[in-house]
Amino acid sequence: MSASTIPYKIYLEESEMPKYWYNVRADMKTKPAPLLNPGTHRPMTAAELDCVFCEELVKQELDNDTREYPIPEEILSFYRMYRPSPLVRAYCLEEKLKTPAKIYYKFEGNNTSGSHKLNSAVAQAYYAKRQGLKGVTTETGAGQWGTALSMACSYFGLDCKVYMVKVSYEQKPFRREVMKVYGASVTPSPSDTTAVGRKILAEHPGTTGSLGCAISEAVETAVSNPGYRYVLGSVLNQVLLHQSVIGVETKIAMDKYGIQPDIIIGCAGGGSNLGGLIAPFMGEKLRGEKDYRFIAVEPASCPSLTRGVYAYDFADTGMVCPLAKMYTLGSDFIPAPNHAGGLRYHGMSPVLSELYHQGMLEAISVPQTAVFEAAEAFARVEGILPAPESSHAIKAAMDEAIRCRETGEAKTILFGLTGTGYFDLVAYEKFHNGQMDDYVPTDEELAKYAAKLPKV
Ligand SMILES: *Cc1c(COP(=O)(O)O)cnc(C)c1O
Repeated sequence: MSASTIPYKIYLEESEMPKYWYNVRADMKTKPAPLLNPGTHRPMTAAELDCVFCEELVKQELDNDTREYPIPEEILSFYRMYRPSPLVRAYCLEEKLKTPAKIYYKFEGNNTSGSHKLNSAVAQAYYAKRQGLKGVTTETGAGQWGTALSMACSYFGLDCKVYMVKVSYEQKPFRREVMKVYGASVTPSPSDTTAVGRKILAEHPGTTGSLGCAISEAVETAVSNPGYRYVLGSVLNQVLLHQSVIGVETKIAMDKYGIQPDIIIGCAGGGSNLGGLIAPFMGEKLRGEKDYRFIAVEPASCPSLTRGVYAYDFADTGMVCPLAKMYTLGSDFIPAPNHAGGLRYHGMSPVLSELYHQGMLEAISVPQTAVFEAAEAFARVEGILPAPESSHAIKAAMDEAIRCRETGEAKTILFGLTGTGYFDLVAYEKFHNGQMDDYVPTDEELAKYAAKLPKV
Protein backbone atom coordinates (compact mmCIF):
# COMPACT_ATOMS: atom_id res chain seq x y z
CA MET A 1 0.00 0.00 0.00
CA SER A 2 1.38 3.42 -0.82
CA ALA A 3 2.19 5.92 1.89
CA SER A 4 -0.56 8.27 0.76
CA THR A 5 -3.23 5.72 1.68
CA ILE A 6 -2.06 5.47 5.28
CA PRO A 7 -4.68 7.24 7.39
CA TYR A 8 -3.78 9.85 9.97
CA LYS A 9 -5.28 7.63 12.62
CA ILE A 10 -5.32 3.91 12.07
CA TYR A 11 -8.37 2.34 13.70
CA LEU A 12 -8.69 -1.37 13.07
CA GLU A 13 -12.10 -2.91 12.50
CA GLU A 14 -13.50 -4.76 15.51
CA SER A 15 -13.04 -7.98 13.60
CA GLU A 16 -9.30 -7.28 13.25
CA MET A 17 -8.71 -6.92 16.99
CA PRO A 18 -6.25 -9.35 18.60
CA LYS A 19 -7.85 -12.62 19.70
CA TYR A 20 -4.86 -13.81 21.71
CA TRP A 21 -2.25 -12.48 24.11
CA TYR A 22 1.35 -13.21 23.19
CA ASN A 23 3.70 -14.61 25.84
CA VAL A 24 7.21 -13.39 24.97
CA ARG A 25 8.74 -15.77 27.56
CA ALA A 26 8.01 -18.62 25.14
CA ASP A 27 10.60 -17.20 22.75
CA MET A 28 13.26 -16.35 25.36
CA LYS A 29 16.12 -18.84 25.45
CA THR A 30 17.08 -17.77 28.97
CA LYS A 31 13.83 -17.38 30.86
CA PRO A 32 13.24 -14.72 33.52
CA ALA A 33 14.32 -15.98 36.95
CA PRO A 34 11.55 -17.60 39.02
CA LEU A 35 9.87 -15.90 41.98
CA LEU A 36 11.32 -17.18 45.26
CA ASN A 37 9.65 -17.90 48.57
CA PRO A 38 10.95 -15.16 50.92
CA GLY A 39 11.37 -17.68 53.75
CA THR A 40 12.96 -20.70 52.04
CA HIS A 41 14.45 -18.97 48.96
CA ARG A 42 13.06 -21.82 46.86
CA PRO A 43 11.01 -21.16 43.71
CA MET A 44 7.40 -20.35 44.58
CA THR A 45 5.10 -23.23 43.74
CA ALA A 46 1.66 -22.78 42.23
CA ALA A 47 0.13 -23.95 45.53
CA GLU A 48 1.98 -21.22 47.46
CA LEU A 49 1.02 -18.55 44.94
CA ASP A 50 -2.63 -19.70 44.93
CA CYS A 51 -3.00 -18.33 48.48
CA VAL A 52 -2.29 -14.82 47.22
CA PHE A 53 -3.30 -14.78 43.54
CA CYS A 54 -6.16 -16.22 41.44
CA GLU A 55 -5.50 -19.73 40.13
CA GLU A 56 -5.63 -18.97 36.41
CA LEU A 57 -3.35 -15.97 36.91
CA VAL A 58 -0.84 -18.15 38.77
CA LYS A 59 -0.84 -20.51 35.81
CA GLN A 60 -0.10 -17.61 33.49
CA GLU A 61 2.55 -16.29 35.87
CA LEU A 62 4.49 -19.55 35.85
CA ASP A 63 3.98 -20.44 32.19
CA ASN A 64 7.19 -19.78 30.28
CA ASP A 65 6.21 -21.98 27.33
CA THR A 66 2.75 -21.27 25.91
CA ARG A 67 3.24 -18.75 23.13
CA GLU A 68 -0.35 -17.65 22.62
CA TYR A 69 -3.24 -17.38 25.06
CA PRO A 70 -6.70 -17.01 23.48
CA ILE A 71 -8.44 -13.98 25.06
CA PRO A 72 -11.69 -15.18 26.68
CA GLU A 73 -14.86 -13.89 25.00
CA GLU A 74 -15.99 -12.03 28.16
CA ILE A 75 -12.73 -10.05 28.15
CA LEU A 76 -12.99 -9.40 24.42
CA SER A 77 -16.47 -7.89 24.94
CA PHE A 78 -15.06 -5.55 27.57
CA TYR A 79 -12.11 -4.68 25.31
CA ARG A 80 -14.60 -3.73 22.58
CA MET A 81 -15.90 -0.90 24.80
CA TYR A 82 -12.63 0.98 24.32
CA ARG A 83 -10.53 -0.99 21.84
CA PRO A 84 -9.14 -1.10 19.25
CA SER A 85 -7.10 1.90 20.35
CA PRO A 86 -5.84 4.23 17.62
CA LEU A 87 -2.36 4.11 16.14
CA VAL A 88 -1.65 7.72 15.23
CA ARG A 89 0.87 9.18 12.82
CA ALA A 90 2.23 12.29 14.57
CA TYR A 91 2.42 14.40 11.40
CA CYS A 92 2.17 17.69 13.34
CA LEU A 93 4.94 16.73 15.72
CA GLU A 94 7.14 15.65 12.79
CA GLU A 95 6.54 18.99 11.15
CA LYS A 96 7.32 20.93 14.31
CA LEU A 97 10.57 18.99 14.76
CA LYS A 98 11.40 19.33 11.04
CA THR A 99 12.43 15.71 11.08
CA PRO A 100 12.51 13.21 8.23
CA ALA A 101 11.55 10.57 10.80
CA LYS A 102 8.06 9.08 10.77
CA ILE A 103 6.59 9.08 14.26
CA TYR A 104 3.70 6.84 15.33
CA TYR A 105 2.12 6.51 18.73
CA LYS A 106 -0.28 3.94 20.10
CA PHE A 107 -2.77 5.80 22.29
CA GLU A 108 -4.08 3.91 25.32
CA GLY A 109 -5.73 6.85 27.10
CA ASN A 110 -9.16 6.53 25.47
CA ASN A 111 -11.01 5.07 28.43
CA THR A 112 -12.27 6.51 31.72
CA SER A 113 -9.34 5.15 33.75
CA GLY A 114 -7.16 7.12 31.34
CA SER A 115 -4.45 4.53 30.81
CA HIS A 116 -3.44 1.12 29.48
CA LYS A 117 -3.95 -0.43 32.94
CA LEU A 118 -7.53 -1.37 32.09
CA ASN A 119 -6.21 -4.05 29.69
CA SER A 120 -4.92 -6.13 32.59
CA ALA A 121 -7.49 -5.02 35.19
CA VAL A 122 -10.34 -6.55 33.21
CA ALA A 123 -8.44 -9.81 32.73
CA GLN A 124 -7.60 -10.10 36.42
CA ALA A 125 -11.15 -9.27 37.53
CA TYR A 126 -12.56 -11.80 35.05
CA TYR A 127 -10.40 -14.66 36.37
CA ALA A 128 -11.23 -13.72 39.99
CA LYS A 129 -14.94 -13.83 39.16
CA ARG A 130 -14.63 -17.13 37.31
CA GLN A 131 -12.96 -18.61 40.38
CA GLY A 132 -16.01 -17.61 42.43
CA LEU A 133 -14.15 -15.07 44.59
CA LYS A 134 -15.90 -12.27 46.50
CA GLY A 135 -13.37 -9.62 45.73
CA VAL A 136 -9.82 -8.47 45.21
CA THR A 137 -7.39 -6.17 47.01
CA THR A 138 -4.71 -3.99 45.51
CA GLU A 139 -2.57 -0.92 45.98
CA THR A 140 -2.51 2.21 43.90
CA GLY A 141 -0.08 5.10 43.78
CA ALA A 142 -1.33 7.99 41.73
CA GLY A 143 -4.56 6.06 41.19
CA GLN A 144 -4.57 4.89 37.57
CA TRP A 145 -4.40 1.22 38.47
CA GLY A 146 -6.97 1.56 41.26
CA THR A 147 -9.33 3.32 38.88
CA ALA A 148 -8.88 0.69 36.18
CA LEU A 149 -9.44 -2.14 38.65
CA SER A 150 -12.54 -0.47 40.13
CA MET A 151 -14.04 -0.24 36.65
CA ALA A 152 -13.28 -3.89 35.92
CA CYS A 153 -14.59 -5.08 39.29
CA SER A 154 -17.85 -3.20 39.00
CA TYR A 155 -18.37 -4.72 35.54
CA PHE A 156 -17.98 -8.25 36.90
CA GLY A 157 -19.70 -7.58 40.25
CA LEU A 158 -16.64 -8.05 42.48
CA ASP A 159 -15.73 -6.17 45.64
CA CYS A 160 -12.59 -4.07 45.25
CA LYS A 161 -10.45 -2.89 48.19
CA VAL A 162 -7.79 -0.38 47.24
CA TYR A 163 -4.90 0.76 49.44
CA MET A 164 -3.92 4.16 48.11
CA VAL A 165 -0.54 5.70 48.98
CA LYS A 166 -1.49 8.32 51.60
CA VAL A 167 0.14 11.30 49.90
CA SER A 168 -1.87 10.57 46.73
CA TYR A 169 -5.05 9.91 48.70
CA GLU A 170 -4.75 13.39 50.15
CA GLN A 171 -3.39 15.20 47.10
CA LYS A 172 -5.39 13.42 44.40
CA PRO A 173 -8.97 13.48 45.66
CA PHE A 174 -10.40 13.24 42.15
CA ARG A 175 -9.01 9.82 41.35
CA ARG A 176 -10.05 8.63 44.78
CA GLU A 177 -13.61 9.70 44.05
CA VAL A 178 -13.60 8.12 40.58
CA MET A 179 -12.74 4.81 42.26
CA LYS A 180 -15.70 5.30 44.59
CA VAL A 181 -17.97 6.00 41.62
CA TYR A 182 -17.18 2.44 40.54
CA GLY A 183 -17.89 1.11 44.03
CA ALA A 184 -14.37 0.49 45.34
CA SER A 185 -13.42 1.09 48.97
CA VAL A 186 -10.31 3.23 49.20
CA THR A 187 -8.05 3.27 52.30
CA PRO A 188 -5.07 5.61 52.70
CA SER A 189 -1.86 3.62 53.25
CA PRO A 190 -0.19 3.05 55.67
CA SER A 191 -3.35 2.41 57.69
CA ASP A 192 -4.27 0.81 60.99
CA THR A 193 -6.39 -1.80 59.19
CA THR A 194 -3.43 -4.21 58.80
CA ALA A 195 -0.61 -5.47 61.04
CA VAL A 196 2.03 -4.38 58.54
CA GLY A 197 0.43 -0.92 58.28
CA ARG A 198 0.42 -0.52 62.07
CA LYS A 199 4.08 -1.60 62.20
CA ILE A 200 5.12 0.88 59.51
CA LEU A 201 3.13 3.66 61.26
CA ALA A 202 4.86 2.87 64.56
CA GLU A 203 8.32 2.89 62.97
CA HIS A 204 7.75 5.92 60.73
CA PRO A 205 5.12 8.15 62.31
CA GLY A 206 3.87 10.78 59.88
CA THR A 207 4.98 8.83 56.79
CA THR A 208 3.06 9.69 53.64
CA GLY A 209 3.33 6.12 52.43
CA SER A 210 4.84 4.36 49.45
CA LEU A 211 3.79 1.85 46.82
CA GLY A 212 5.80 -0.92 48.49
CA CYS A 213 4.01 -0.30 51.76
CA ALA A 214 0.55 -0.24 50.16
CA ILE A 215 1.35 -3.55 48.42
CA SER A 216 2.14 -5.14 51.80
CA GLU A 217 -1.18 -3.96 53.21
CA ALA A 218 -3.16 -5.18 50.20
CA VAL A 219 -1.50 -8.62 50.30
CA GLU A 220 -2.16 -8.99 54.02
CA THR A 221 -5.82 -8.07 53.55
CA ALA A 222 -6.19 -10.58 50.73
CA VAL A 223 -4.68 -13.52 52.61
CA SER A 224 -6.58 -12.77 55.82
CA ASN A 225 -10.04 -12.43 54.21
CA PRO A 226 -11.65 -15.61 52.82
CA GLY A 227 -12.77 -15.21 49.20
CA TYR A 228 -10.26 -12.45 48.45
CA ARG A 229 -7.09 -12.46 46.38
CA TYR A 230 -4.48 -9.84 45.65
CA VAL A 231 -4.00 -8.35 42.18
CA LEU A 232 -1.16 -6.20 40.88
CA GLY A 233 -1.20 -3.74 38.00
CA SER A 234 2.36 -4.07 36.71
CA VAL A 235 5.70 -5.91 37.10
CA LEU A 236 4.31 -9.48 37.04
CA ASN A 237 4.62 -11.78 34.02
CA GLN A 238 0.82 -12.16 33.81
CA VAL A 239 0.39 -8.37 33.53
CA LEU A 240 2.86 -8.19 30.65
CA LEU A 241 0.97 -11.04 29.02
CA HIS A 242 -2.34 -9.13 29.17
CA GLN A 243 -0.69 -5.90 28.03
CA SER A 244 0.61 -7.68 24.93
CA VAL A 245 -2.79 -6.77 23.46
CA ILE A 246 -1.23 -3.32 22.88
CA GLY A 247 1.67 -4.71 20.87
CA VAL A 248 -0.28 -7.35 18.99
CA GLU A 249 -2.88 -4.75 17.98
CA THR A 250 -0.15 -2.31 16.94
CA LYS A 251 1.52 -4.98 14.85
CA ILE A 252 -1.74 -5.94 13.11
CA ALA A 253 -2.28 -2.26 12.22
CA MET A 254 1.30 -1.74 11.03
CA ASP A 255 1.34 -4.93 9.00
CA LYS A 256 -1.95 -3.92 7.39
CA TYR A 257 -0.34 -0.76 6.03
CA GLY A 258 3.13 -2.16 5.48
CA ILE A 259 4.74 0.02 8.17
CA GLN A 260 7.98 -1.24 9.66
CA PRO A 261 9.18 0.44 12.87
CA ASP A 262 12.93 0.87 13.42
CA ILE A 263 12.78 2.10 17.01
CA ILE A 264 10.13 1.22 19.61
CA ILE A 265 10.01 3.35 22.75
CA GLY A 266 8.04 3.15 25.96
CA CYS A 267 8.13 4.60 29.45
CA ALA A 268 9.03 2.12 32.14
CA GLY A 269 7.69 2.09 35.69
CA GLY A 270 7.07 -1.57 36.47
CA GLY A 271 7.41 -2.38 32.78
CA SER A 272 3.91 -3.45 31.77
CA ASN A 273 3.10 -1.04 28.96
CA LEU A 274 6.56 -1.31 27.46
CA GLY A 275 6.60 -5.08 27.84
CA GLY A 276 3.17 -5.24 26.19
CA LEU A 277 3.96 -2.87 23.35
CA ILE A 278 7.23 -4.52 22.36
CA ALA A 279 6.14 -8.13 22.95
CA PRO A 280 5.41 -9.38 19.40
CA PHE A 281 8.27 -7.31 17.93
CA MET A 282 10.65 -8.65 20.57
CA GLY A 283 9.43 -12.13 19.65
CA GLU A 284 10.58 -11.55 16.07
CA LYS A 285 13.93 -10.29 17.31
CA LEU A 286 14.36 -13.23 19.69
CA ARG A 287 13.55 -15.67 16.87
CA GLY A 288 16.08 -13.92 14.65
CA GLU A 289 13.45 -12.88 12.09
CA LYS A 290 13.77 -9.11 12.36
CA ASP A 291 15.72 -6.48 14.22
CA TYR A 292 14.42 -3.51 16.13
CA ARG A 293 15.82 -1.06 18.68
CA PHE A 294 13.78 -1.09 21.88
CA ILE A 295 14.20 1.76 24.36
CA ALA A 296 12.91 1.84 27.94
CA VAL A 297 12.64 5.36 29.34
CA GLU A 298 12.67 5.90 33.09
CA PRO A 299 12.81 8.95 35.36
CA ALA A 300 16.30 10.06 36.41
CA SER A 301 14.92 10.20 39.96
CA CYS A 302 13.92 6.50 39.95
CA PRO A 303 16.44 4.83 37.60
CA SER A 304 16.01 1.10 38.24
CA LEU A 305 17.26 -0.22 34.88
CA THR A 306 19.95 2.37 34.25
CA ARG A 307 21.41 2.54 37.76
CA GLY A 308 19.91 -0.38 39.70
CA VAL A 309 21.32 -3.80 40.50
CA TYR A 310 20.16 -7.05 38.83
CA ALA A 311 19.37 -9.10 41.91
CA TYR A 312 16.64 -10.79 43.91
CA ASP A 313 14.67 -8.26 45.91
CA PHE A 314 11.41 -7.87 47.74
CA ALA A 315 8.53 -6.59 45.66
CA ASP A 316 7.20 -4.65 48.67
CA THR A 317 8.44 -2.69 51.68
CA GLY A 318 6.81 -5.05 54.19
CA MET A 319 8.73 -8.00 52.69
CA VAL A 320 5.67 -10.24 52.53
CA CYS A 321 5.70 -10.77 48.76
CA PRO A 322 7.83 -13.33 46.90
CA LEU A 323 11.35 -12.31 45.93
CA ALA A 324 11.72 -11.32 42.29
CA LYS A 325 14.97 -11.14 40.34
CA MET A 326 14.94 -7.76 38.69
CA TYR A 327 16.82 -4.54 38.21
CA THR A 328 16.10 -2.83 41.51
CA LEU A 329 17.04 0.16 43.59
CA GLY A 330 16.13 -1.70 46.81
CA SER A 331 12.67 -2.18 48.26
CA ASP A 332 13.05 0.80 50.65
CA PHE A 333 13.88 3.20 47.85
CA ILE A 334 11.40 6.06 47.52
CA PRO A 335 11.98 8.81 44.94
CA ALA A 336 12.57 12.35 46.24
CA PRO A 337 9.38 14.17 47.32
CA ASN A 338 9.68 16.59 44.41
CA HIS A 339 9.41 13.76 41.88
CA ALA A 340 6.04 14.36 40.18
CA GLY A 341 6.02 12.19 37.12
CA GLY A 342 5.01 8.70 38.32
CA LEU A 343 7.05 5.58 37.40
CA ARG A 344 8.17 5.44 41.03
CA TYR A 345 8.38 1.67 41.58
CA HIS A 346 11.79 0.54 42.93
CA GLY A 347 12.09 -2.50 40.65
CA MET A 348 11.34 -3.59 37.09
CA SER A 349 9.46 -6.48 35.47
CA PRO A 350 11.59 -9.68 35.62
CA VAL A 351 10.90 -10.24 31.89
CA LEU A 352 12.18 -6.79 30.89
CA SER A 353 15.04 -7.08 33.39
CA GLU A 354 16.20 -10.32 31.80
CA LEU A 355 15.83 -8.91 28.26
CA TYR A 356 17.83 -5.84 29.30
CA HIS A 357 20.44 -8.07 30.89
CA GLN A 358 20.70 -9.98 27.58
CA GLY A 359 21.20 -6.73 25.69
CA MET A 360 17.93 -7.04 23.78
CA LEU A 361 16.61 -3.77 25.16
CA GLU A 362 18.21 -0.36 25.77
CA ALA A 363 17.37 1.92 28.67
CA ILE A 364 17.77 5.64 29.26
CA SER A 365 16.73 7.98 32.03
CA VAL A 366 15.44 11.53 31.64
CA PRO A 367 15.09 14.42 34.13
CA GLN A 368 11.55 15.48 34.92
CA THR A 369 11.61 19.10 33.73
CA ALA A 370 12.68 17.87 30.28
CA VAL A 371 9.78 15.41 30.42
CA PHE A 372 7.25 18.16 31.13
CA GLU A 373 8.75 20.34 28.38
CA ALA A 374 8.26 17.47 25.95
CA ALA A 375 4.73 16.88 27.27
CA GLU A 376 3.75 20.47 26.55
CA ALA A 377 5.40 20.56 23.15
CA PHE A 378 3.45 17.39 22.27
CA ALA A 379 0.14 18.68 23.65
CA ARG A 380 0.44 21.89 21.66
CA VAL A 381 0.81 20.16 18.30
CA GLU A 382 -0.93 16.79 18.73
CA GLY A 383 -3.75 17.98 20.99
CA ILE A 384 -3.71 15.18 23.54
CA LEU A 385 -2.78 16.17 27.13
CA PRO A 386 -0.34 13.39 27.97
CA ALA A 387 0.20 11.72 31.35
CA PRO A 388 3.61 12.60 32.83
CA GLU A 389 4.50 8.89 32.72
CA SER A 390 3.77 8.71 28.99
CA SER A 391 5.74 11.90 28.45
CA HIS A 392 8.97 10.08 29.25
CA ALA A 393 8.41 8.16 26.02
CA ILE A 394 7.45 11.35 24.18
CA LYS A 395 10.72 12.96 25.28
CA ALA A 396 12.78 10.03 24.04
CA ALA A 397 10.86 9.81 20.75
CA MET A 398 11.38 13.54 20.14
CA ASP A 399 15.10 13.19 20.84
CA GLU A 400 15.38 10.30 18.38
CA ALA A 401 13.45 12.33 15.78
CA ILE A 402 15.80 15.29 16.28
CA ARG A 403 18.76 12.95 15.82
CA CYS A 404 17.21 11.89 12.50
CA ARG A 405 17.02 15.55 11.48
CA GLU A 406 20.75 15.84 12.14
CA THR A 407 21.73 12.65 10.32
CA GLY A 408 19.07 12.89 7.61
CA GLU A 409 17.83 9.37 8.32
CA ALA A 410 14.09 8.81 7.83
CA LYS A 411 13.61 6.28 10.61
CA THR A 412 10.21 5.05 11.69
CA ILE A 413 9.71 5.61 15.41
CA LEU A 414 6.89 4.03 17.38
CA PHE A 415 6.12 4.98 20.96
CA GLY A 416 3.49 4.10 23.52
CA LEU A 417 1.27 6.98 24.65
CA THR A 418 0.00 5.23 27.74
CA GLY A 419 -2.48 7.75 29.08
CA THR A 420 -3.87 11.21 29.64
CA GLY A 421 -2.80 13.79 32.19
CA TYR A 422 -6.06 15.40 33.37
CA PHE A 423 -5.48 14.21 36.93
CA ASP A 424 -1.85 15.34 36.90
CA LEU A 425 -2.44 19.06 36.66
CA VAL A 426 -0.88 19.71 40.07
CA ALA A 427 2.36 18.39 38.58
CA TYR A 428 1.90 20.57 35.49
CA GLU A 429 1.22 23.52 37.84
CA LYS A 430 4.52 22.91 39.67
CA PHE A 431 6.25 22.85 36.31
CA HIS A 432 4.63 26.14 35.24
CA ASN A 433 5.48 27.83 38.53
CA GLY A 434 9.12 26.82 38.36
CA GLN A 435 8.70 24.67 41.48
CA MET A 436 9.94 21.52 39.85
CA ASP A 437 13.57 20.47 40.19
CA ASP A 438 15.59 17.66 38.68
CA TYR A 439 16.85 15.97 41.81
CA VAL A 440 18.80 12.86 40.90
CA PRO A 441 19.90 10.42 43.63
CA THR A 442 23.66 10.26 44.23
CA ASP A 443 25.69 7.06 43.90
CA GLU A 444 26.14 7.11 47.68
CA GLU A 445 22.38 7.19 48.26
CA LEU A 446 21.77 4.34 45.84
CA ALA A 447 24.58 2.29 47.37
CA LYS A 448 22.95 2.66 50.78
CA TYR A 449 19.75 1.04 49.52
CA ALA A 450 21.56 -1.59 47.44
CA ALA A 451 23.50 -2.69 50.53
CA LYS A 452 20.19 -3.76 52.09
CA LEU A 453 19.21 -6.16 49.30
CA PRO A 454 18.38 -9.66 50.61
CA LYS A 455 21.22 -12.17 50.37
CA VAL A 456 20.01 -14.93 48.07
C1 LIG B 1 1.01 3.03 35.49
C2 LIG B 1 1.32 3.84 34.31
C3 LIG B 1 2.57 3.74 33.66
C4 LIG B 1 3.70 2.89 34.14
O1 LIG B 1 3.46 1.57 34.39
P1 LIG B 1 4.13 0.41 33.53
O2 LIG B 1 3.73 -0.83 34.24
O3 LIG B 1 5.60 0.64 33.52
O4 LIG B 1 3.54 0.50 32.19
C5 LIG B 1 2.77 4.49 32.53
N1 LIG B 1 1.84 5.32 32.04
C6 LIG B 1 0.64 5.45 32.66
C7 LIG B 1 -0.35 6.41 32.08
C8 LIG B 1 0.34 4.72 33.80
O5 LIG B 1 -0.85 4.85 34.38
